[in-house]
Amino acid sequence: LWAGPGKYWPRGAVMARAGKITFAGAEEQCQAGSAAEVLDAGGGLIMPGLVNAHCHAAMVLFRGLSDDLVLADWLNQVMFPAEARWVNEEMVELCTLLAAGEMLLSGTTCVGDAYFCMSGAARAYARAGLRAVAAQGVIDFPAPGAPDPARNLVVARDFLEAWQGRSPLIRPALFAHTLGTCGPETLRGVAELAGEYGVDWYTHLAETRQEVDAVRAHYGRSGARHLEGLGVLASLKAAVHGIWLDDDEIKLLAGRGVGIIHCPESNQKLASGAGEVGRWLAAGIKVGLGTDGAASNNDLDMIGEVGAAARLAKAVAGDPAALPAGAALDLALDGSAAALGLDGVAGRLGPGFAADLAVLDTQAPHLMPLNEVCSAVAYQARGADVRHVVVDGRIVVKDRKVQSFDLPLVMQEVRKLAKKVARG
Ligand SMILES: [Zn+2]
Repeated sequence: LWAGPGKYWPRGAVMARAGKITFAGAEEQCQAGSAAEVLDAGGGLIMPGLVNAHCHAAMVLFRGLSDDLVLADWLNQVMFPAEARWVNEEMVELCTLLAAGEMLLSGTTCVGDAYFCMSGAARAYARAGLRAVAAQGVIDFPAPGAPDPARNLVVARDFLEAWQGRSPLIRPALFAHTLGTCGPETLRGVAELAGEYGVDWYTHLAETRQEVDAVRAHYGRSGARHLEGLGVLASLKAAVHGIWLDDDEIKLLAGRGVGIIHCPESNQKLASGAGEVGRWLAAGIKVGLGTDGAASNNDLDMIGEVGAAARLAKAVAGDPAALPAGAALDLALDGSAAALGLDGVAGRLGPGFAADLAVLDTQAPHLMPLNEVCSAVAYQARGADVRHVVVDGRIVVKDRKVQSFDLPLVMQEVRKLAKKVARG
């Protein structure tokens, strides 16, 4: 059992009641006799479920559709048209279920998802039993579910109204697409609406140099300064990417308590740049880790993402001591939990935390010998090593099979839809 930094027991056990952990520690101290249900983790490593702080889950439908393009071309020439044609609430529900299956099977127990038609996604997460911060996307273009941009905040309000307090697993939130695609009025409107409902809001920030240059040319200031000038920065929960933030912006985000969500695989694949995690952490910023959408990653495997974060940080810093394995893993645990406003709930196994955990099968040649847990997870393990997953005290994956919904049926439906998409 690895319950968090410095908390390791070679023979450990976890107990939970009503979705919350009541015990995490040495097996011999665990009073398991009274348990209604027992999950045998023998030969495995029990660890906190991973938290994917940023993705666009339903975009799994578009993975592999168009790769190896720069962000602006990929987005404008491929993704926006594909989304306009294929995305609706039914598609989002179906494809989010596929994404939830992929995430659960690779040990993710909590996700921050931002997309359109989020009622479909929220229904999918509730059914899959995956904890989610489901953020309704807001953009000043006609978008799926919000064809009239003048009504994008009305659509967002309807979503918050529908999902506020509806499911213990689902927290609604808002996501302003970017500073380039959301004007000042929209950004203010998103922040105000989030404040009215007491939910968090997010945005992509400083993902590419072109975006940063465009914001500066249009508003005469950096992105973070622009948000500060609009009076909305302090209420922003976390900025996604942050690759091209300058020193002043980093200081500003730190001062305002705004987190950064790092998506190293997507950033590398789109050649957007390399986020400097070490600089952010040194400034006192809470840093979470996310896969971003599967169309730019192209998978939702957080174990792979942890390794990618560690390797990229070393390559960028020219220093193998940059972002050690434990620190990289912690981005996907405590860091992501904080970025999603779930500190004290997710990211650790201890009394009072949610019973969200993964069991990695360590009886595999690439995980032997298991000298150091964090190093094994960051540098050797892969999502497919996950054997069992528990979310909110419920066994949702057992012996590598999703228990909460019919994943093979969902895959069959997605295959049918993907054929239509491929035909154009
Ligand atoms: Zn994104």
